[in-house]
Amino acid sequence: MGNVERRRRAEAPQVQLSAEILLPQAKPARYTGGEWNARQKDWRAAEIHLALAYPDIYDVGMSNLGFQILYEIANDIPDVLCDRVYAPWVDMEEAMRRHGLPLYGLESRRPLAEFDIIGFQLPYELNMTNVLHMLDLAGLPLLSAQRDEGHPLVIAGGSGAYHPEPMADFIDAFAIGDGEEVLVEILDVYRAWRRRPHRFRLQLLEELARLEGVYVPAFYRPRYDSKGRYLGLQPVHPDAPERVCRRVVERLPLAPVRPVVPYISIVHDRAMVEIQRGCTQGCRFCQAGIIYRPVRERSVEEICRLAQELIDHTGYEELGLLSLSSADHSQIVEIIRRLKAQFADRPLSLSLPSLRVDSFSVELANMIQERRRSGLTFAPEAGSQRLRDVINKKVRAEDLFQATEAAFQSGWLRIKLYFMIGLPTETVEDVRAIGELVREVLDIGRRYAGRRAQVAVSAATFVPKPHTPFQWVPLVAEDTLAEHIAVLQDATRVKGVHLSWHAPITSLLEAALARGDRRLGQVIHRAWQLGAKFDAWEEQFRPAAWEQAFAENGLHPDDFARRPLDYADALPWDHIDAGVTKAFLWAEYQRALRGEILSDCREVCHGCGIRGRFHLLACPLLAEEPAAEGKPA
Ligand code: SF4
Repeated sequence: MGNVERRRRAEAPQVQLSAEILLPQAKPARYTGGEWNARQKDWRAAEIHLALAYPDIYDVGMSNLGFQILYEIANDIPDVLCDRVYAPWVDMEEAMRRHGLPLYGLESRRPLAEFDIIGFQLPYELNMTNVLHMLDLAGLPLLSAQRDEGHPLVIAGGSGAYHPEPMADFIDAFAIGDGEEVLVEILDVYRAWRRRPHRFRLQLLEELARLEGVYVPAFYRPRYDSKGRYLGLQPVHPDAPERVCRRVVERLPLAPVRPVVPYISIVHDRAMVEIQRGCTQGCRFCQAGIIYRPVRERSVEEICRLAQELIDHTGYEELGLLSLSSADHSQIVEIIRRLKAQFADRPLSLSLPSLRVDSFSVELANMIQERRRSGLTFAPEAGSQRLRDVINKKVRAEDLFQATEAAFQSGWLRIKLYFMIGLPTETVEDVRAIGELVREVLDIGRRYAGRRAQVAVSAATFVPKPHTPFQWVPLVAEDTLAEHIAVLQDATRVKGVHLSWHAPITSLLEAALARGDRRLGQVIHRAWQLGAKFDAWEEQFRPAAWEQAFAENGLHPDDFARRPLDYADALPWDHIDAGVTKAFLWAEYQRALRGEILSDCREVCHGCGIRGRFHLLACPLLAEEPAAEGKPA
């Protein structure tokens, strides 16, 4: 990009929003920016213009802590202007297209195409088409291969970057792992590249590929056999490593203390402190439990200090203590006790979004919720002990009954229970056992709260996810799933119990996109052309578009979602090194099939591989050497 290009970018006019465009929208404030703590930096003075992009609506994206963390880190760099952009809902999209408005950054109101870098967060498979939706609204070429030096660099991170192949055609570089450090390094590489008198996009990609944790898909070619079976990814550039090792921050960096405060209600409208990253429970279905290892706790002192600054800077009256399993923080009681004392004179409520199924968690909930005790949520995940052992959910029925008894006894009226349907080895008996658990919980509730006691049951279809012990397991067959859902409906048909479940059709797409390889890029592209976007939103989901897109490309979602895989099979995410070894995951899968549980690794290290990979990292909770790593059985 030459000086002329730079000047053009610096002079880029702001997008003009009129009342005619904004007022008919369901929530105009999604599109105006200017919220409390939004960072307004000088567009002309900034050397690098970065737009953080969230491929879902504002209400969802604003609730994402990772997004807020990166926004603050990038804006704290003097020469970087970091803006935000969320996917416009269909009403705003229609208005923007009608008025010829391009997608723009909320703070700067500059068209997205005028930014230097667009950084997508990829939280979920069903957001993939929204990346195309946003690039198109920005007027940018969708395919990485069609973009040149005059276009923004398009990068992506988040949990979706751990299985990047379906999006490989659209993204220039993926950042794998904790984003706090690697984002700064990407910006450094970009800055140095930009200062060169002659620069080519290829040089930039080469330099990015040399960064640890950065995957540049253009430097790899997928291989298939004559039957279309995936054989692996071959590096075709000297700067492309065989495997891209994820980034891990040894210590949790300071969290944002001036997050943007929305004017409208959003999904999680509260201040958030990440009290711990990682989880030691070892649930075999859980991708987050693997890709955020090892556990890194924040100290009580730091949590209290961050909480004070957060509340002072936002005025929030609710503080979420975030983690994959908040009750597992070794100082959780002390954290709650200290925060309650610290904010005794302010109307601040605390929330713990992820409780274990035990009486201790109810004690914690009682500590933080002294008055309005409406609903508590537990996740036993499976109905029978046998199946809970398979998935390594170390919860006994007695734990659930004791926890719910403690809850109803303390005045809670509504218990929400999360289960999964279609788990590996699941039988009709396992599903009936959900009904038995639920009825028992309702009976306990009736003893304390009479007819006011309620049990809400939420059942999600199990979707096998990359980098988990169940990555080799096919998605449950459609007729089995239908049968199990019917059994579940029957087993929970009781007054006082409310059942909701996730539509199987989106689970098939989610599983295909999760386990898919690079061929899915064409399918995603075609589905988007046929109108697919906001696939996670039931009212927007267009199964016909997806069916047609798969068919036109000679593929079927079952090719990916229901393909049985073996240890020897090449997996489309094998080149992404999440730190936990494939041998450990396979050994875990074999233990699952034998119904053997593996203890919490706070008690003993099971040698998952994390410690060997990241030299500086000792698993913080362990003094001893790990047990021998798992080997393929
Ligand atoms: S290295 Fe050991 S303690 Fe650390 S996450 Fe893996 S199994 Fe758990």
